[in-house]
Amino acid sequence: MAENYDVIIIGSGPGGYIAAIRAAQLGLKTAVVEREHLAGICSNWGCIPTKALLRSAEVLHLAEHAKNYGLKLEGSISPDLKAIVERSRGIAQRMNGGVGFLMKKNKVDVIWGEAKLTKPGQIVVSKSSKKPMEPQAPLPKNTLGEGTYSAKHIIVATGARPRALPGIEPDGKLIWTYFEAMVPPEMPKSLLVMGSGAIGIEFASFYRTMGVEVTVVEVMPAVMPVEDAEISAFAKKQFEKQGMKIHLEAKVTKVEKGANSVIAHVEMKDGKVEKITADRMISAVGVQGNIENLGLEALGIKTDRGCIVIDGYGKTNVPGIYAIGDVAGPPMLAHKAEHEAVICVEKIAGLPNVHPMDKLKIPGCTYCNPQVASVGLTEARAKAEGKDIRVGRFPFVANGKAIALGEDQGMVKTIFDKKTGQLLGAHLVGAEVTELIQGFVVAMNLETTEEELMHTIFPHPTISETMKESVLDAYGRALNA
Ligand SMILES: Cc1cc2nc3c(=O)[nH]c(=O)nc-3n(C[C@H](O)[C@H](O)[C@H](O)COP(=O)(O)OP(=O)(O)OC[C@H]3O[C@@H](n4cnc5c(N)ncnc54)[C@H](O)[C@@H]3O)c2cc1C
Repeated sequence: MAENYDVIIIGSGPGGYIAAIRAAQLGLKTAVVEREHLAGICSNWGCIPTKALLRSAEVLHLAEHAKNYGLKLEGSISPDLKAIVERSRGIAQRMNGGVGFLMKKNKVDVIWGEAKLTKPGQIVVSKSSKKPMEPQAPLPKNTLGEGTYSAKHIIVATGARPRALPGIEPDGKLIWTYFEAMVPPEMPKSLLVMGSGAIGIEFASFYRTMGVEVTVVEVMPAVMPVEDAEISAFAKKQFEKQGMKIHLEAKVTKVEKGANSVIAHVEMKDGKVEKITADRMISAVGVQGNIENLGLEALGIKTDRGCIVIDGYGKTNVPGIYAIGDVAGPPMLAHKAEHEAVICVEKIAGLPNVHPMDKLKIPGCTYCNPQVASVGLTEARAKAEGKDIRVGRFPFVANGKAIALGEDQGMVKTIFDKKTGQLLGAHLVGAEVTELIQGFVVAMNLETTEEELMHTIFPHPTISETMKESVLDAYGRALNA
């Protein structure tokens, strides 16, 4: 037996590494096991490198529209794909180096290899079945290796991977997952994106801005189907204005592969099958938890639909074993993983007043153009729950800052409980709304009412003023529209 820890965490993504740091802060002897890349999917293949790609798209878009801002750019502007991808990969590398640094700083041991639970309180780490990511920052000097390790508490934070539809499995060449879509060797002329959740629509937005002909096929009646229907419809119109083709209530039933293109058979809403040819296709039909080969079955750890079942504090049904992040179920978001990590570790450490996870207060952000952000109940869900509501709306076209920025296409929608005035949900589409949403998240966390929001002073000129105006509108008091 190599080492004895208070806490061992399997997986160093935003769930795992944050759990490790919080555990170390609380004086617990902690180790984190990683088999592929410190910092997990989020920093290496998810949140951060996509935002780097989307930033390049945003700069390209601005440069292409420079004359709208009174600027003359000499010569032509065109994307240098290799440099764009290199920038994104460089940022991913910097992020995983950052987590290595944080582990060292917090005296958390890093164990390199593939972990499996052998019994409560024990794991075996063997040689990784995955090829470590390239480029990767150097691992901390005292990184440990294969062996048996024990801990009073073991947290499973193994994340998720792309889900595949039977018969339409990604092959990495013609049908991509987010891994291949992140590092295209060359720009396709046309692209079919299957699935319009956050991952699909962010890639659709990136490639469209890069000049690629993009077609999105979504089985649900709206793009980004978890969002409020009005916000999804608004975003869809903007995507279509940019030249994206979007088919809703449509599904890819079959894909014929050619030498350098695919023909997707798409069953449209009316039942007719249309054949769509594209150079490449992205399968973005969701992710599934990494629950295999962890020894979960042998220990009797309950799973449901590919994820580990936990309570509000990350506890599984087996004492001493916990799960957090994507492997513990939706919403599969980095900030949800991080928050679950803190709750779980604080509960392990016996801290008083640890609040269980409240999933209704987890914001969701999509960094397409225009951006989309939301928290709380949609209008449809509030109604389905039988709530008597007031709804406010405010458009960006009536906001001075948005107009000055040349970003007047957007809106804010707020939903209140009619009786108590409690803010139940907020839904935004437009420039920088992924930054704005946090105002409403804080408000919801403090169980704010319309009155407190109306008494809050929002700085001028900012797009955030649309948030207040939306609140005022819910009560028939909007000032600038
Ligand atoms: C393209 C894309 C864009 C995204 N954009 C966003 C975004 O903008 N905002 C957002 O909030 N979320 C985003 N996400 C989701 C986000 O990346 C995940 O929710 C987050 O990474 C989950 O964190 P985690 O710690 O649960 O798991 P992960 O980040 O997946 O980390 C799990 C780690 O465990 C390791 N591991 C697995 N099994 C073992 C084992 N047996 N032994 C040792 N190590 C193991 C893996 O190698 C991995 O490093 C995006 C995801 C993708 C794919």
